Amino acid sequence: MQCIGPLTVDWPGLLTFRLRRAGLAALLLCGVALGFGAAPAQAAEPTGEHVLQGQLLFIQGTGPVVKTAAKEYPLAGRYHYIFQTLGDKRLRNDEVRLEGSFQADGNFRVDNIYTLHHGEVYRVRYFCETCNIVGLGPGKCVCCQQPTELQEVPVNKKDKKILITH
Ligand SMILES: [Zn+2]
Repeated sequence: MQCIGPLTVDWPGLLTFRLRRAGLAALLLCGVALGFGAAPAQAAEPTGEHVLQGQLLFIQGTGPVVKTAAKEYPLAGRYHYIFQTLGDKRLRNDEVRLEGSFQADGNFRVDNIYTLHHGEVYRVRYFCETCNIVGLGPGKCVCCQQPTELQEVPVNKKDKKILITH
């Protein structure tokens, strides 16, 4: 059994809150595998060379695209889970800020995904409350196989409020 995370250390308030509610058994179960298969993009990754900001759309036959004021750019993901996140129906039509780079095939390869709400920047993550761990992309928790919850976490650390918009 393999768990990814936990990567809540950046958010001490949240961690405390979650720990109170998390099942101890699940924590222990997941604890042995922590650090194993860790999230590459959650660490201090170099950010992309370019930033595109616009509406995240999904076009049949093309896939995820971002529609900026100038044009629509078809999207690729640096990692598979990033591509899966870009295709997440719950994020569709949201305003996003994408860091990445333009590829020779015309796609914009996304390294980091942020959402924007009322001018605030949020990072997207998939959280399992039972196991108190963060998964990389949409889907089931790697520990308990229950669906994870899509959360949007403010990048500005002074604001601890987590949006659960979906
Ligand atoms: Zn779980």
